[in-house]
Amino acid sequence: MLQQPHQPLQVAAVPAQRTPAREDEAGPWHSEAVCRRDEAGLFFAPSKEPTAARLSREESAKRVCARCPVMIECQEHALMQPEPYGVWGGLTAAERRVVLARRRRREMELKAAASAGHIAAAG
Ligand code: SF4
Repeated sequence: MLQQPHQPLQVAAVPAQRTPAREDEAGPWHSEAVCRRDEAGLFFAPSKEPTAARLSREESAKRVCARCPVMIECQEHALMQPEPYGVWGGLTAAERRVVLARRRRREMELKAAASAGHIAAAG
């Protein structure tokens, strides 16, 4: 049975309002998502999941993502939303937070460098 990618099934602990964007909102990449087919239960944590089980499930989800033709699009979607739960584009929620923090830091460094360049050019 075809499913939307990342629909939180009965095992998911994802609030309904934080479910992934619909296909028309997220773009055509959804239709090529490998996780549409049968593996959506891998991508979200059931409630009270033990750490070892979570790590194992996340690694399995990442292996699915690694063979997905739309991994980059999916990852960028999850970073831009941002999606707070689940594995998206081969990244866990914690890994996405790290990527976003690095991006913010890099943007600040670039702005600071640009400001310093203006000051140097003006002086
Ligand atoms: S990269 Fe992973 S989470 Fe994203 S669509 Fe593909 S299989 Fe699903």
